[in-house]
Amino acid sequence: MPKPGPHGGELALIERIRHDSAQRFVQRRSRFLMLGIGDDCAILRPPAGHEVLVTTDFTIEGRHFRRDWHSPESAGHRCLARGLSDLAAMGAMPMAAFLSLALPRSCKKSWIDRFFLGLRALGDRFSVPLAGGDTAESPTELIFADITLVGTAPAGRALRRSGARAGDVLYVTGQLGGSAAELDLLPSGRGLRVRGGEEDKHPQMFPEPRLAVGEALLRRGLAASCIDVSDGLSTDLAHLCRESEVAAEVDEAALPIHPLAGKLVRETALRAALHGGEDYELLFTAHAGVRVPRRIAGVAITPIGRIVRARAGKAAVMLVRADGTRGELKPGGWEHFRGISV
Ligand SMILES: [Mg+2]
Repeated sequence: MPKPGPHGGELALIERIRHDSAQRFVQRRSRFLMLGIGDDCAILRPPAGHEVLVTTDFTIEGRHFRRDWHSPESAGHRCLARGLSDLAAMGAMPMAAFLSLALPRSCKKSWIDRFFLGLRALGDRFSVPLAGGDTAESPTELIFADITLVGTAPAGRALRRSGARAGDVLYVTGQLGGSAAELDLLPSGRGLRVRGGEEDKHPQMFPEPRLAVGEALLRRGLAASCIDVSDGLSTDLAHLCRESEVAAEVDEAALPIHPLAGKLVRETALRAALHGGEDYELLFTAHAGVRVPRRIAGVAITPIGRIVRARAGKAAVMLVRADGTRGELKPGGWEHFRGISV
C-alpha cells in the first residue's frame, strides 16, 4: 500500500471528486444517472427505445498534452472533449463519464483540482455527470487519464461511418486546422494562459465537441454517414471511405480554414486543415437531394466535396486543388509535438 502522495492519497482524492460531483456535477439534474460515485457500480437508465453507446479514450501526458503547454484546465477539458466528440459523431446524447486517473506522487493538488475544474466546466455545459472511475499512483512521472463516455441514441439510428454512397455530398462543421495552428503559434516552451470566457478562441486548448450538431443530424435524418475529425481530415475521411467502401473528392478551395490557421503561410495553413488532428469537427455525408442547412445549432456547415465510387487500384481520396489539378490526398497526421521527445 503506497503512502499518500501530496494529493492526499487515493481515498481523499476520491472523496474530493465525489464531493465535487455531488455538489456541482449536475448529478441531481441528470436524466440518466440513477446512482453515481460511491457504490461498486454506477446505474444508468437510457430512455425507452434507445441503445447505449460506449467509447473510451486515453489521455497520456507527452502524447495528448504537455504540462508546460496545456494548462490543467485544458488537459481536463480535452480529456472529456475527446469522448464527447465520439458520441457527437454518432449523433448520441451523453449519459455519463467515467474517469480512471494515474497520477505521479509529485503531482500537486492544485494541478489535480484545476484538471477537474476544466473537465467539470465542459461536463456541466453538456449535463454530463462524472459517474465513477478509479485512481492510482502512476509508477512514472507521467499522468495517464482514461475516460469512458456512455451515451444513448434511438435504437438503430446512430450515425455510422459506413453509410456513405457515391453521389453523396461531403460536409464539415466549423473550421479546420485551428487546433494544429494554435500549437504551431504557441511560443515554444511556454504554456498559454487562457482567460475565462475566451475558450472558444482556442481550438487546441479548449476544443468544442459538436454534440448539438450530431444530435440534429440524427434527429432530422440529414446525415448518411458521419465521423469526427480527431486524427485530421485526410485520415478520418479515409476511415469513412473504407467503412463505406467508397472514394471521395475534396475541393481545396472549399475548405473552411480556421482564422488561427489563416495566420500561417498558405501552405502550412492548408496542411493544418487537411492533416491537423484534434479539430473535433464532424465530417459527414448527405445523400444527393437532401437539403442540408448552412448552419446547424449555430455551427457553420460547409460542403467540401463529394463521395464517388471506389475503383480498384485508385486512390480513396483525391484533392481537387484551387487551380483544378488533382492529386491523391494521402492520410497524413500532423506532427503535433514537432519532434520534441517527451
Ligand atoms: Mg472518433
